[in-house]
Amino acid sequence: MSTYNEVFDIIIIGAGPCGLAVAARLREETPSAMFTDEEHQRYHWIKKHQGKMSLARAKTKRLYNAPLAESSYYKTQRCCANDNSRSTYSTLVLDSSGSRWMERWHRAFKALRIEHLRSPMFFHVDPADRDGMLAYTRETGREKELFELSGCVGQELSKHKRKKIRNISQFPREAEINERDRKDYFTPSTSLFADYCNSIIARYGLDNESVPIQRSEVCDITFGEVQGSKDDSKLFTVSTTHGKSFHSRAVVLAVGPGLTKMMPWNLSSDEELGACHSSEVGVKFPSAALARKIENRQTTHVVVVGGGLSSAQFADMAIARGVTKVWHIMRGDLKIKHFDVSLNWVGKFKNYDKAVFWSADDDQERFEMIQTARNGGSITPRYQKILKQLAAKDRVSIHTQTVISSKKFDSGTQTWKIVTDPPIANFPDRIDYVCFATGMKTDANEMGLLQSMNRDYPIESINGLLCLTDDLMWKPDVPLFVTGRLASLRLGPAAPNLEGARLGAERIAWALQDVLGEQTDVDFCGREGEKLQKAFCGLGNRYESLAQCS
Ligand SMILES: Cc1cc2nc3c(=O)[nH]c(=O)nc-3n(C[C@H](O)[C@H](O)[C@H](O)COP(=O)(O)OP(=O)(O)OC[C@H]3O[C@@H](n4cnc5c(N)ncnc54)[C@H](O)[C@@H]3O)c2cc1C
Repeated sequence: MSTYNEVFDIIIIGAGPCGLAVAARLREETPSAMFTDEEHQRYHWIKKHQGKMSLARAKTKRLYNAPLAESSYYKTQRCCANDNSRSTYSTLVLDSSGSRWMERWHRAFKALRIEHLRSPMFFHVDPADRDGMLAYTRETGREKELFELSGCVGQELSKHKRKKIRNISQFPREAEINERDRKDYFTPSTSLFADYCNSIIARYGLDNESVPIQRSEVCDITFGEVQGSKDDSKLFTVSTTHGKSFHSRAVVLAVGPGLTKMMPWNLSSDEELGACHSSEVGVKFPSAALARKIENRQTTHVVVVGGGLSSAQFADMAIARGVTKVWHIMRGDLKIKHFDVSLNWVGKFKNYDKAVFWSADDDQERFEMIQTARNGGSITPRYQKILKQLAAKDRVSIHTQTVISSKKFDSGTQTWKIVTDPPIANFPDRIDYVCFATGMKTDANEMGLLQSMNRDYPIESINGLLCLTDDLMWKPDVPLFVTGRLASLRLGPAAPNLEGARLGAERIAWALQDVLGEQTDVDFCGREGEKLQKAFCGLGNRYESLAQCS
């Protein structure tokens, strides 16, 4: 039993997009990112008139047709700016990457020199407005920073009309996205997205002063009685590698893919001088030896392993930094996709695939759907074009269905002797650096910080993904909430992406109200409230729920 000190209402572990989305959502009184304008109007109506008049009379008020008079972005800016006291939950954020929101994200984008996001405009962390990023872009006059995703939209156009559109992409079409949604299928520039996130942080008063973010790696979480606590209820004890412990009534685990890199072998300390994982590129690449060669204009060869977008981004960045040639090898084929998940999952609202996912018989079935939808690493048509251009200049050489069969690092010359299977023609004798863009290993059973929870409150998992409650809780009565990749079996195939952040935050915020008590004047009680909660969290049929409440 640990000893009592200050008890936070919530400890958020992980200050990435998922952690930020939860913190922001907890301070948003009128969440609307998850539903349509019609539902939005309905929500506001219910909130305004709750307890004052019969819900059945809602229909006579014609609120559904009321247009939004001004940009919802600025409206939310104004209404929230002066009211950050709204969240009464005391919150501590712990993150291993830094003491600001989204440090890991910013570092990865900077290290790989990524200019645009991969995801569409409605993938963001703003709980106030599903179209918030579009509105922000317009209000700040930054439309030029958007990059159109060609080939996603407009399949309902007639063949004749399509023929008339010049330069139409040859990208294989997977799903039908209506022409009217074209505005959503742009990707924001890295800086536009960062500024938008900063505006959300400012809007909800989530800067470090009101919500402390401590740079610490969490190594253990326990749930039980704490000596000296004021009541008998169980508390969480969250311990860090710095030897500190913190207590809270609820914990939100938003650690993304975790911290374990997927490597084909464990690098020795010598080998680390000539290789790194793509998540370490910012600090380790180029090595001193490689940097010297580039500076002296010597010929340099670098190998990148992996078929995901990071591998292509690394190849592009390495050439831009002066490497002579990048050998891009991957064990599978090079897959080209706009998003990490297939296009039919990237709908703005609920669609057929999501409905099938949520109504699947069991988690094994859901896991298989996730695998099919993500289908391993892929690169975007844009990076395919970049790689093709570099290959045409003999700066990049792509080798699919190829693996490293043997390797030896020479610490004297700090170069590698690498043999591939099958052998690559004209492959250099000496490779100056190897980057493993091989992803992260996300397995809840192997994560050090979950060992105590797995032992004391075991729950099922499928291939390392947790079988949580629908509220994303570890177990009923164990208010450890999980969002992001680890919650994929509940949030769907896009859980590891920004879509998972917003969706996860919505469910967690509703459930936290039950665990910690109400913090705002929004309170949907009883059966009707339960239906609405389900509806807004994307569970069940929300039209049915809304109709039943009328
Ligand atoms: C290069 C790159 C580009 C990407 N581009 C896109 C994109 O354009 N669109 C998109 O939707 N997705 C993109 N993704 C996927 C992206 O990672 C997710 O969308 C997003 O980062 C998920 O947020 P998260 O909060 O779940 O995880 P993360 O961003 O990984 O944040 C998790 C945080 O938890 C911290 N943490 C982990 N373990 C611990 C611990 N034990 N103790 C304390 N803190 C811990 C980490 O340091 C990190 O700061 C990209 C990924 C990469 C690598």
